[in-house]
Amino acid sequence: MAEQPETPNDELTTTAASATTRFTTTAPTISRPSQLDIGTAAGVRHLLSDGDKLGLLTSEWVPPENFHWPFSERMDRDKVRRKYLGPQHFKGQHSCFSYSLSKDGVFCKPCALFAPDNVRGVKLDRLVKSPLQQYSHLTGDGGYLTTHIKNSFHEDCLAKARAFTETQRTGEGDITQRMNAAAAAERERNRRVLHRLIQAIEYHGRLGLALRGHRDSGDLLQPSGASLSADLDYSGGNFRALLQLMVSCNDAMLKEHFATAGRSATYISAPSQNALIECVAVVLKREIVAEIHSARFFAILADETTDFARQEQPCVS
Ligand SMILES: [Zn+2]
Repeated sequence: MAEQPETPNDELTTTAASATTRFTTTAPTISRPSQLDIGTAAGVRHLLSDGDKLGLLTSEWVPPENFHWPFSERMDRDKVRRKYLGPQHFKGQHSCFSYSLSKDGVFCKPCALFAPDNVRGVKLDRLVKSPLQQYSHLTGDGGYLTTHIKNSFHEDCLAKARAFTETQRTGEGDITQRMNAAAAAERERNRRVLHRLIQAIEYHGRLGLALRGHRDSGDLLQPSGASLSADLDYSGGNFRALLQLMVSCNDAMLKEHFATAGRSATYISAPSQNALIECVAVVLKREIVAEIHSARFFAILADETTDFARQEQPCVS
């Protein structure tokens, strides 16, 4: 076992023969019999009492004395680089995560206790059923922990955990309250998606761009996902192409929405676009009228222009 650095996540470097990149994880040296921790609880959660769950959700795991935080090693340009797990990885927005001594890895506590076995046909595993033991890229863009907390199922589990904790502490509430919390989380998620779609519509409106294309129906993303700008399908029109570009630029929320939403709930069909444009128009009109009412004087500029059917149309500004 190598010497433990003073700062747990510092990188250490040593010379190595191979130039290839690989990952390994070294287990902690402590192997004392563990009490119920989140790792053992994840496998037997149907046997847990409410008190057990509350204890796991509300208590912070404290490393035993002389505990050596585990690390991952990877080869990088003939150097062995170590990335240590440490207490800083369980602070703030990552406080939902905990280290499991019994499973030698990291779990998400709300997901380990409340997540379904699979989400839309995808079986949940790492951080939920099995420990995360790869510590080389935990936080920041694309980090394991950062990516996990953006999942909708994680938000649902977080809402359930909060409702459960509140119920246990106050002695009030029931399953209805918990379901309401999950429904509220889903509503909030849908609002954020709609906000992004309205931003895309506003973009076209401000630049005077048409939204529709020749073939603007069906799945937005290609089977492989729009990962590169070269994958954009411009035949679907500006609106769909812009959304594909946003997904390809790592808009995780939109990417998940289009990958998981039902075909009748993507909010990007032509009727949905028209409905959203109508909503934007109502809000704009309301704001203009409010401005006029609050102004002492105002002027109207009118002109005429010809539309595509060669009909003269008034243009007011
Ligand atoms: Zn989670």
